[in-house]
Amino acid sequence: MLVDSPLPMWLTWGDSCATIYNEACCRLFRKGQPHLLGAPLDDVIGDWPEVRSLVLETMRGKGLCRKDRPLAIGQPEDRQIAWFTVSGTPLRDEKGAVRGTICTAWETSDNARSRQWLAEHEAEVARRDAQVREAAERYRLARLAANDAIWDWRLGDGHVIWNQALATLFGYDLEQTSADWWIEHIHPDDRAAIDESIHQVIKGDGVNWSGEYRFLRADGSYAEIFDRGAVLRDAGGAPVRMIGAMIDLTERKAAERALRESERLFRTLFESIDEGFCVIEFIDGPHGPLSDYVHVMANPAYALNAGIENVVGQRVRDMVPLEAEGWVQIYRRVLVTGEPIRFERELEHTGRHLELAALRIEPAERRQVAVLFQDITTRHRAEVALRELNDALEQRVTAEVDKRTRIEDALHQARKMEAVGQLTGGIAHDFNNMLAVISNALELMGRRFAAGDDRTLGYLGLAKSGVSRASQLTQRLLAFSRQQPLHPRPVLVNELVTGMSELLGHSLGGGIVFDTVLAADVWPTYVDPGQLENIILNLAVNARDAMERGGRLTIETSNCVLDERFALAEEDLVPGPYVMISIRDTGTGMSKEVLSKAFDPFFTTKEPGRGTGLGLSQVYGFIRQSGGQVRIDSEPGRGTVVNLYLPHHADKPEKENKPKAAAVKRGDASETILVTDDEEDVRILLADMLTHLGYRVHAAEGGAAALRILDAHPDIQLLVTDVLMPEMNGRELADEALQRHPNLKVLFITGYVGNVLLANEEPEQNVHVMDKPFAMADLAQRVRALLDQS
Ligand code: ADP
Ligand code: MG
Repeated sequence: MLVDSPLPMWLTWGDSCATIYNEACCRLFRKGQPHLLGAPLDDVIGDWPEVRSLVLETMRGKGLCRKDRPLAIGQPEDRQIAWFTVSGTPLRDEKGAVRGTICTAWETSDNARSRQWLAEHEAEVARRDAQVREAAERYRLARLAANDAIWDWRLGDGHVIWNQALATLFGYDLEQTSADWWIEHIHPDDRAAIDESIHQVIKGDGVNWSGEYRFLRADGSYAEIFDRGAVLRDAGGAPVRMIGAMIDLTERKAAERALRESERLFRTLFESIDEGFCVIEFIDGPHGPLSDYVHVMANPAYALNAGIENVVGQRVRDMVPLEAEGWVQIYRRVLVTGEPIRFERELEHTGRHLELAALRIEPAERRQVAVLFQDITTRHRAEVALRELNDALEQRVTAEVDKRTRIEDALHQARKMEAVGQLTGGIAHDFNNMLAVISNALELMGRRFAAGDDRTLGYLGLAKSGVSRASQLTQRLLAFSRQQPLHPRPVLVNELVTGMSELLGHSLGGGIVFDTVLAADVWPTYVDPGQLENIILNLAVNARDAMERGGRLTIETSNCVLDERFALAEEDLVPGPYVMISIRDTGTGMSKEVLSKAFDPFFTTKEPGRGTGLGLSQVYGFIRQSGGQVRIDSEPGRGTVVNLYLPHHADKPEKENKPKAAAVKRGDASETILVTDDEEDVRILLADMLTHLGYRVHAAEGGAAALRILDAHPDIQLLVTDVLMPEMNGRELADEALQRHPNLKVLFITGYVGNVLLANEEPEQNVHVMDKPFAMADLAQRVRALLDQS
């Protein structure tokens, strides 16, 4: 009975619990193999304690049933839990004692599992329900929000429901279409393949489908679509619905294409440009954060331009240790500030001169900088050479032009001075003669009218002062035309300036500070000291006029040696040692225009009555006549410096004790004088004056007459003669006369010292020069001095 039952049944008998079982048990008992038939219970059932206890309890005499007990069944490799209801019935021997048990098992897996599942998973089911509801809501929202066109295709009748993306993506304002509508809107070239692939999935037993195709938009253009969907089937596996989404890839594809294109372009550029290109990345080196960088990429032209190979992976501090700091600083600035730069710099390591551009690669956290550069060594060299050439050329041209302009200016100035000098000199000379006449006539008239009325004497006084002012003017004109008689002697300018200090201090007035800066051991010079004083005074007065609001006047003396170049620039100035006197003021200064005319006689910017315009012209004439040069540096608002260069002289002046002017002794009749002048007025005047002084006087109208008279009167002690005379001039007459009478004294009277008697000529012992016009007292004194000379 047991063996034939389709239910698992087994029988255990006797003290040894020998067990026999049927075929159906083989699924339950792990060890329940046919060869164990009759083996003890434990061996047969293995580890199934429930069954063991059931069997043993039944042995005590009571039938038992245990419901829905789980049991792991099957082979170890695919063990699964099954549920069984097991019943046990006691078996008795003929005496009624229980000797064994017969058991039957029914599998109740389905009932038990579902009950348990229900019990265990009720909560889970509730939770899932909530989840599902939530998911459904999310899905609803997602459908609304999705940029993908979501479709839900009822396979039975081909009805398709769409979300709003069908409108937004493709421009069809539809919520429902047929599946055919969809197929028809696929690009003809893609249509057949898609139609086939989707139906293959539906017809087979697959779930997922995807495809790419072009889909016609309402505006006639095609969108690039990635579409995917899932087939839903009923319990029988028949396809019911298909749900999916169309994703518009048009933009992404375009972007991808663009990216690919730009990538390709970049590669091409990177590989083929002539310029070196690299990307560097900053690292924290041994010198602190961002103190080193490493090359992360470099194109083939890098090596060509920089002269260094295989830089990728190299740190700049290893690559070019000596100059790395400089490069790091430049690029770190770019990294930190984000400002791109362009610059030129030499890569000293290889001696290449590079032109570089660097910019930060964003975002800055990448710590990367891109550098594009070019080797411009050749160009650089050429440029440097060209620049040097240009500079040199420019300099030479400028220097040459400067020199020329200077020489031209100087020449122009010299010519102008020459011309104006001749003119003024000529006029002044004639004028002086006339003044001499007037002056002397006035003098005599004065004597005649000594006893006359006061009014006449008053007019005479006025006339005399007019004459003396006029003669001062001619004096200055002659000074400018370098024709004034000078009495040069060795002079120490320091002493001269010191001697003037008090006078200058007074004449400058309150607001002006007066300084002297006198160099030690200034050389002697050879000039007319009276005139030099005159000139310094003139310049000081000019300075004062330029400093009406106060300032500082400095007179400086020094030695200076003019070299060839400087002397040349100053024109007709011999190179060599000079004594320099600078008169510097902090006044208004002069414009270029004023400066160019400042030396011209009668040029003045001052109001009438204040300036004569003769000050600087006199300075010029005197200094030139003394063999020196004068130079003015002045700029409006920056003051003026007048530099006087006077020739150096070897000898120092002798210490002299100036004799006090004493009353002049009158002449007596034993002292005989010969007066020679071609102009009758002057001659008569002179003769009268000398007679008046008590001398015996002879007069001659020319050289020949004078010599005759000399021969006739050997007692004549003094010859007073004009210099400029027709036939024989004063100088010639004097020479001739001195030959005949070596002891004869000579006094030249001159209004104008032309080339006949050089102004600078050392006066001879017995020869004196006197300028016209002169006061009678002067004449008296000079005549006396000569006659008293032994
Ligand atoms: P004057 O002083 O009578 O005007 P000068 O011959 O001395 O004549 O000077 C000519 C002109 O040069 C002056 O009128 C003045 O314009 C200018 N000048 C001379 N010396 C100076 C100076 N130290 N600062 C400014 N201008 C000056
Ligand atoms: Mg002046």
